[in-house]
Amino acid sequence: MEFSSKLLEKAVNEMSQLPGIGKRTALRLMLHLLRQPEDQTVQLAKALESMRLDIKFCKSCNNISDKEVCEICANPHRTKEIICVVEDIRDVMAIENTSSFKGLYHVLGGKISPMDGIGPNELNIQPLVEKVKQGIVKELIFALGSTMEGDTTNFYIYRQIQDYNVTTSTIARGISVGNELEYTDEITLGRSIINRIPFEASLKS
Ligand SMILES: [Zn+2]
Repeated sequence: MEFSSKLLEKAVNEMSQLPGIGKRTALRLMLHLLRQPEDQTVQLAKALESMRLDIKFCKSCNNISDKEVCEICANPHRTKEIICVVEDIRDVMAIENTSSFKGLYHVLGGKISPMDGIGPNELNIQPLVEKVKQGIVKELIFALGSTMEGDTTNFYIYRQIQDYNVTTSTIARGISVGNELEYTDEITLGRSIINRIPFEASLKS
């Protein structure tokens, strides 16, 4: 791609680093911005910068947050006795949209995937085990989806905590074979949280 402007070329190159955005799409977006008021691009750039520099991870659940402790963990009306184990913030958002869950979350930041070089130590698993050891948590709900990586991760965590006094459950299988939670409709997802099944029973199915 030949550019008449090095400034435009640099912007296109940066934009095209993003997943799913090739050079042609990046060029179209940049030309769009150039047709809009300057202020709009400045606001976009500022929003990106402050998101990247100022965002935090909740020190309790590891969810993306603006504060040290996220609003869900800080909410006194939510029970600390039930923790829903999820992969990332998209799952938290999907489950929150159902309004069916009033416990807390624990965000792992991924799933165990030896093919991708992701082992238990790369994920936020140990702090979850520590929470269980403290004895406040009565139930863990595994909501990692029923992919092989999800199953492996569930089982790994289960093995770590099975000797402690905690119930484990999982959202109904079949809700998301090959689908991620974020794509499941709210009613189905909400129902599967309410009708969750004991984790041991899910191992036999
Ligand atoms: Zn939190």
